[in-house]
Amino acid sequence: MKTPTFKMILPLLTFLFFAIGCQKETTEPQNQINQNRGLLENLVYQLPEEPLSPAEIQGLNWMREEEKLARDVYAISNGYWNRQVFAHITSSEQSHMDGIGYLLEKYDLPDPITTDETGLFADQVLQSLFDSLKIASSQSVIAALETGAWIEELDILDLDVQIELADNQDILLVYENLQKGSRNHLLAFVRNLDMEGVTYQPQLLSEERYLAIINSEQETGLD
Ligand code: ZN
Ligand code: ZN
Repeated sequence: MKTPTFKMILPLLTFLFFAIGCQKETTEPQNQINQNRGLLENLVYQLPEEPLSPAEIQGLNWMREEEKLARDVYAISNGYWNRQVFAHITSSEQSHMDGIGYLLEKYDLPDPITTDETGLFADQVLQSLFDSLKIASSQSVIAALETGAWIEELDILDLDVQIELADNQDILLVYENLQKGSRNHLLAFVRNLDMEGVTYQPQLLSEERYLAIINSEQETGLD
């Protein structure tokens, strides 16, 4: 049997993308996050604690696992292809996961991540998505870089939805930082594809928005 390629699984990915937002809240026990407080964590705690809407809670659960999905796919891609871009972005996704983790902790919400093991997800939509992306990333270094760019496009659009749904200042601060990180990651994957002689075509973002990201310099500051 032929192994699925990135292009073959695109329709599935698109379906999963549209399934996002229909997620149920989990009732798993909270995982403790034991880390030294960094700048983002301090900022999160300095902002007022505001009431959480069900949509905000659902969004935090979804984004926490989506950041894990990005981290895990890049960790696996780094294992397959041993490229710095995957190693760097894996650690950046860990800080994105932590960013959502600070909010879960601040609001005393249960963590949807009950195991930190690579490739395991509580949410079944994310589990299927991960399984497909893992196969896609195993095909070639180019497929792995294209998969990375696709994940970053997905992240940017999911964060658009969550930013629209949220009004708590601390949540918006974290989401804006994550979105800036995703734009930088997209740019990094696209540049790496360029070096391989491949011009990436956006799969989810509008051409206009994609070009605005690609034609800007890497953004600095927290993410
Ligand atoms: Zn991220
Ligand atoms: Zn990213």
